[in-house]
Amino acid sequence: MTDHVDGNALAGILSELFREDMTTATARCAHCGDVSVLATAMVYDAAPGWCVRCHVCEDVLMTFVRAGERLRIDLRGVTALEVGSTNAVRS
Ligand SMILES: [Zn+2]
Repeated sequence: MTDHVDGNALAGILSELFREDMTTATARCAHCGDVSVLATAMVYDAAPGWCVRCHVCEDVLMTFVRAGERLRIDLRGVTALEVGSTNAVRS
C-alpha cells in the first residue's frame, strides 16, 4: 500500500452512495449485527440533532447534530451501510 491518491478520489463513489434514498439503505448494527433498512430504526429527536437506535438491541447506530449550516454525522454504531444491489461501504 505505497501508492495512493487523496480523498478527492472518493467524490464519485460517495455521491453514488448519498444520492440514494438512504431510508432504504441497509445498515449493520455494530452491537448486535442486525442488518435492516434504516426505515426500521428508532429515531429520537434530541435537538439540536437526532439519535438513531437499532430496532433490535436499541444501541446507537448514528447521531446527527446540526450546528448552523453544518451537519455532523457520527456513524460509529454502523459497521456496514449498503445501497442498491452492489454498492456497499464497510468499516
Ligand atoms: Zn442492534
